[in-house]
Amino acid sequence: LLRSSMSSSSMQGKLVAPPMVYAKGEEMTRYVMSLILDKWIEPHLDTTSWQYFDLSCKARDDTDDEVLRECVRAGANVKSIFKEPTITPTEEQVKSLGLTKRLPSPNGAMRRGWNGITISRGTIHIPGVKLGYDKPVIFERHAVGGEYSAGYKTNVGRGTLRTVFYPEVHEPGNPSLPPYKVVYETPLTDGDNAVVTYHNPLDNVSDLAEIFFNRCLEAKVTPYVVTKKTVFKWQESFWQIHKRVFDAKYRGRFLAAGLLGPTNGELAHLISDAATMKIAQWKQGNFGMSAHNYDGDMLTDEISQVHRSPGFVSSELVGKSSRDGSLIKEFEASHGTVTDMDQLRLDGRRTSFNPLGLSEALFSAIIWADQLAGVQPLAEDADVDGPAAAADTPSLFAARAKSALRRVIARGQATSDLAGAGKGLSTEEFIDAVADELKC
Ligand code: NAD
Repeated sequence: LLRSSMSSSSMQGKLVAPPMVYAKGEEMTRYVMSLILDKWIEPHLDTTSWQYFDLSCKARDDTDDEVLRECVRAGANVKSIFKEPTITPTEEQVKSLGLTKRLPSPNGAMRRGWNGITISRGTIHIPGVKLGYDKPVIFERHAVGGEYSAGYKTNVGRGTLRTVFYPEVHEPGNPSLPPYKVVYETPLTDGDNAVVTYHNPLDNVSDLAEIFFNRCLEAKVTPYVVTKKTVFKWQESFWQIHKRVFDAKYRGRFLAAGLLGPTNGELAHLISDAATMKIAQWKQGNFGMSAHNYDGDMLTDEISQVHRSPGFVSSELVGKSSRDGSLIKEFEASHGTVTDMDQLRLDGRRTSFNPLGLSEALFSAIIWADQLAGVQPLAEDADVDGPAAAADTPSLFAARAKSALRRVIARGQATSDLAGAGKGLSTEEFIDAVADELKC
């Protein structure tokens, strides 16, 4: 197995983890991660090079959000980030958490701050255990634009609505024409209207397409581009950019890999409403989808449900450094802070939280940080559990930990989302079972 001159051991015989940014969040997921750090990570890794940022609403409010800005700056430098789920407070939470104002989404600040291209998601599989999909399903969700960056006004009365574009650089032409273009104009005849303007930035869609096609090739799945372009005509460009990149650089590789059988040798487009049905129907897996931001949000939640639990889906934000164009990756779970279970925990009741999505993200962040530090990635078929594989790099430790988790689940020690309601291990029992497995 691969050894690296970069790997080193600390005085206590622990492996020295490579630099990473760790963003702390809230509620059940913060509690579970504190157990994971104590029981799975600290006994094996020296994490003194990690930079921690507290992104709880309270800490953000107390620092007037400076903690989030520092976290984004640190992430842009370090380029490997693990993030626990966070809360974007509602009006009610502003009151209940004693905040001075409504804080904006930290995820939005990160997507902007790291030039987010895509949120890459994928199903997690456990050998010998039947989940929703038999084979991989992967997903790219465009990380920017659309409804999330919309400007809007509600309670707008009768009148005329006009959307106007002012170019940064004026086109040479007739000087008598105004230096703007009316994009859209419509009469508002209802007495009450909600009006919205948003845009889809398209410059990084070719990067997104490259990431998508490479992931599909690696996972050996058939790619589909998902839009509602038949009705939402502005979505045509998203499809066209994917098609251009595919035809120029990827078609031959997909044909050679035999992955275009279901789509007659071409890149296929799926209308988003048809995609919702295919996601429920194609339980065999073996497909990938690339979609706009909002569609991606919805469709990946559906994938989580079909695949038994949001705990069985991985999620990473891929961005690009403004300085040198290198990739920045932020790893997270695909789910939120799991408020309902946290309430049970605070009431002293038994909970059964599946930590796979969270821990997979943490291990992937360690592996990526190791690569950034110059450690060669493990070969796909590396025997991480073999006797020769004493964990001599943090990546190898992370790969072994992923494997240990799967062994524990495969021998039936699972949480309720897999074992069935009222059955399975408690949150703490599952974490202890994996901690014991890691000692072996
Ligand atoms: P959620 O994903 O936290 O939970 C949805 C449902 O799935 C709940 O019933 C929960 O118990 C279950 N669930 C989720 N993950 C699970 C796991 N690993 N194991 C077992 N069951 C699991 O979504 P929500 O309840 O809509 O949101 C809760 C909070 O999380 C909100 O404040 C929201 O703003 C926040 N949130 C944060 C992020 C993020 O930071 N990336 C994403 C989504 C939601």
